[in-house]
Amino acid sequence: MGLIDSHAHLTFPELRDRLDEIFTRCDDGGIDRIITLGIDLDDARSAVRLARLHPDRVHAAGAFHPHEAEKVTDDLLTAMAELWDDHAVVALGEMGLDYHHDFAAQDTQRSIFARQLELAAPRSKPLIIHCREAFVDTVPMLVEHGFEGRPVVFHCFTGSAAEALRLQEHGWRISFTGVVTFPKSTELQQIARSYPHEALMIETDSPYLSPVPVRGKQPNEPAHLVHTARFLADLRGVSYEELAQQTVRNTMRFFEL
Ligand SMILES: [Zn+2]
Repeated sequence: MGLIDSHAHLTFPELRDRLDEIFTRCDDGGIDRIITLGIDLDDARSAVRLARLHPDRVHAAGAFHPHEAEKVTDDLLTAMAELWDDHAVVALGEMGLDYHHDFAAQDTQRSIFARQLELAAPRSKPLIIHCREAFVDTVPMLVEHGFEGRPVVFHCFTGSAAEALRLQEHGWRISFTGVVTFPKSTELQQIARSYPHEALMIETDSPYLSPVPVRGKQPNEPAHLVHTARFLADLRGVSYEELAQQTVRNTMRFFEL
């Protein structure tokens, strides 16, 4: 049973020139599919091109990442929304707010996030949310724009158990990266241990966040997803096979692959 990496950045310079070997290692390691995310218009177009080139392996998603918020114009937003209707695009994201890095002013981030939510609302594709130390604004903005109960995933979730529960109450879900394998991630491991079977999804967020035991190895790549899957299977007391099947089923359903 192969896995699906629900969040990677194959178009980033660390990975894009080595895709042949990266895909070979996916085949060897049992990674069947990858959702690759573009973080601005050019990158999202590259993601779509890659998905068209490898239709049985790669799916695309795209949006303006909060780090890119300062560069976004009306024309760029319109073009992004047009790209969202391409059938290679399975999800709208990652979009959201990042108050940890603060690469863009917070009010600019909020306004670009709001604009994207307005454009996303009439479309039926799932949302991939990037939220870093910005829970307090991200959640109400999603509710305001009518996303209550709609398919929304907070990717690379690193918040508290209370926050994870609140997201569940809104009908949204979280997904787990290699961060869950880090020894200090005790609260996240507690969340992952009891997270509902039917919502569990995993991702690498490569080229970042290599899981234990390849932590520190740069760049991270989709083949490393097996380490996170194995860790979660042990943590949850299920077989690797069962965890693989469940996460694949959940991911296929969520993104309508
Ligand atoms: Zn990402």
